[in-house]
Amino acid sequence: MSMPFQYDVTDHQDVQAIKKAIANKLMYAIGKDPIAAQPKDWLDATFLTVRDQMVERWMQTTRAQYSQDLKRVYYLSMEFLIGRALSNALLALDMEDTVRTALDEMGIDYDDLVHMEPDAALGNGGLGRLAACFLDSMATLGIPGMGYGIRYQFGMFKQRIIEGRQVEVPDTWLGSVNILDFPRDEVCYRVRFGGRVDMDGKKARWVDTHNDVLAVAHDVIIPGYDTTATNTLRLWTARSTREINLSKFNEGDYFSAVAEKNLSENVSRVLYPDDSTYSGKELRLRQEYFFVAASIQDILHRHRMTHDTLDNLADKVSIHLNDTHPVLAIPELMRVLIDEADCEWEKAWAITSKVFSYTNHTLMSEALETWPVDMFGHLLPRHLKIIFDINEMFLKEVEEKFPGDLALQRSVSLIEEHGERKVRMAYLAVVASHKVNGVSALHSDLMVESIFADLAKVFPDRFTNVTNGVTPRRWLALANPSLSGLIDREIGQTWRVRLNELAELKSHIDFPKFVQDFREAKHANKERLAKYVARNLGGVINPDALFDVQVKRIHEYKRQLLNVLHVITRYNRILRDPDAKIQPRVVVFAGKAASAYRMAKLVIQLINDIGVKINNDSRVGDKLKVVFLPNYSVSLAEVIIPAADLSEQISTAGTEASGTGNMKFALNGALTIGTLDGANVEMREAVGAENIFIFGNTTEQVNALRSNGYNPRAIYESNSELREVLNQLANGFFSPHEPERYRVIFDTLVNWGDHYQLLADYESYVATQDKVDALYAKPDEWAKKAILNVAGMGHFSSDRTIAEYAEKIWHTKPVQL
Ligand SMILES: *Cc1c(COP(=O)(O)O)cnc(C)c1O
Repeated sequence: MSMPFQYDVTDHQDVQAIKKAIANKLMYAIGKDPIAAQPKDWLDATFLTVRDQMVERWMQTTRAQYSQDLKRVYYLSMEFLIGRALSNALLALDMEDTVRTALDEMGIDYDDLVHMEPDAALGNGGLGRLAACFLDSMATLGIPGMGYGIRYQFGMFKQRIIEGRQVEVPDTWLGSVNILDFPRDEVCYRVRFGGRVDMDGKKARWVDTHNDVLAVAHDVIIPGYDTTATNTLRLWTARSTREINLSKFNEGDYFSAVAEKNLSENVSRVLYPDDSTYSGKELRLRQEYFFVAASIQDILHRHRMTHDTLDNLADKVSIHLNDTHPVLAIPELMRVLIDEADCEWEKAWAITSKVFSYTNHTLMSEALETWPVDMFGHLLPRHLKIIFDINEMFLKEVEEKFPGDLALQRSVSLIEEHGERKVRMAYLAVVASHKVNGVSALHSDLMVESIFADLAKVFPDRFTNVTNGVTPRRWLALANPSLSGLIDREIGQTWRVRLNELAELKSHIDFPKFVQDFREAKHANKERLAKYVARNLGGVINPDALFDVQVKRIHEYKRQLLNVLHVITRYNRILRDPDAKIQPRVVVFAGKAASAYRMAKLVIQLINDIGVKINNDSRVGDKLKVVFLPNYSVSLAEVIIPAADLSEQISTAGTEASGTGNMKFALNGALTIGTLDGANVEMREAVGAENIFIFGNTTEQVNALRSNGYNPRAIYESNSELREVLNQLANGFFSPHEPERYRVIFDTLVNWGDHYQLLADYESYVATQDKVDALYAKPDEWAKKAILNVAGMGHFSSDRTIAEYAEKIWHTKPVQL
């Protein structure tokens, strides 16, 4: 391609040039006189200046990707939990020092400014954050990848705690950060709903659709770290096909004319605030189809720009499904190939089944998506027909491989036949994908032993594992400047892209000066968190206490309640023996509960109630503090995680697919107390069993208890310390104004079967917490183990994860720049 234009590019490390650029943006793009500019205006002007730098790299990358005709990866995800973008971009472009100095010379504090940026919270938790880490790693590795998602007008709700209870407040992020993305009004596709299938001989036509909506693209730039390579996250927003219904408007019915427009635009209005349970709501199905239909049209359009056939689609395109939410992309691609591109069924299937791959994120039955056939057929009649046809073909294949095994056919059918008929989205994903992966070694094993056992008989080679990872740029370099600075001094800076180099720190535990510096870095982070707590909650916490941290979505399987049982146990011990020497602790919680999840919200209230009781009890003093930090988010995680001494990863074995919080903590020098669940198993291998606190039943033991009869009441009756704690919950000790408040928790644990087996693990958990105290009393020994945790985390970089996907699943190569 020729280069007819000359660009006026500012040297990205020239302070004077950057100053001038920011001042120009303030004036000509924001329209503000520097004298009158508000902090928000300075943020926007700085953002625009940095964005210019990214745009240039972005175009270079795009040109190179086209000219090298590389295979593309399209990562489809309902969620991207990106967090703040400015500081991340400045790190990627190595511009932090330049911009800091430039702003300083203009009288603006850099840290204040970057902390003003609201999080882009287009996700719930781990699944969405994983997608964001993957985008960062794909760009950094130069993988020609693109994310597709929804630009929700309202992202994850903001959490306030009022009188101890969670209150959800809408997140209006778009009001402030619409300079993050480039609107692409010209990249716009029609998405159809409803109607019926018209058979014209053998040819099907989808006709009479209504409530159609337009999907308009917004492009977010994803910079790679220390590379020109820059990728795109394309987010779809819904726009009505008619601005307003003119006939109704003319009839004077203004309200319903506008309401109709709003109705169709609802599809990108709000993020569902729960990814751990399946919600069979029509709006959710509409959202899912909306974003995959737009994405498939866009992917095919992009392919056709450089190829005059779809025959080679599978050689040039990989489409990855992050959980089952985007699985409708499968029948949608089939539909377009057959109905619109006139492909034969066999050929369309050959292409489709080579293009897709799928990641499973959960084994819990309440999270597996199924759609009632009736609802599905109403909204997407053509797709339902295609799924039936896929099922027919697939069951024939099963019959050929396992003749006469009707039970197997019923078990693997894409349609659940007992009760209301339903489409099984996870099965469709498995049947149509060339690879299916779990997200940790344990989870991938359990996946083929449990939910996909019968499908694995039919497709033994299809299943694989790719253990999750996290990006070391955000989760160490950005979040923890004191530790990263220390690591830089010891082993240089290249660990940011080759995290395995952290292993060099292992031998450094023999240098007392380094161990001392490591302890000081941790202490600085604890002071930073203490300041945050003082400023936001008004409470005082002592940075010399052990910081014991559990931050993640509030869910019964994650067992925040088990943590609470231990906290109350400690409290009772302090009261029973006030003179005993005890390791002071600050127990930190944070996390959101799904707005409709009563039990999870009650746990939040309980944590706040015990906090009030314990923190105000003068007999306790500094020995124990309980803190619930509101509004857990990426940015809050960046403050909390580096300050943790102890990381709580205590889910019932067999329930947490991987976890990524566990990795962030260990990378930041916390020791883990955890069950043998998810990636904890591999972390134990990586850091050494003597450097991690493992407790509780294994998956096999959990399952054995479940099938042989588990009797939590017997445990309650035999353990007096536990009995005291549970009685306090039952009799209103922590809720004197409403003594019955926590009765349901007592019943759930003691009388109603304790589904997540907290009582079974209680004794082992408390005993292990005692070992934690004993080790913490020897600060150098503790610090050495913490260092060995950091040193052992090389494997858990999302760069390693993405390299594995690229090699084993996508078969893609990096762009040459
Ligand atoms: C990492 C992360 C999660 C996932 O945490 P888990 O402990 O793995 O559940 C959730 N939310 C945010 C904001 C995160 O950064």
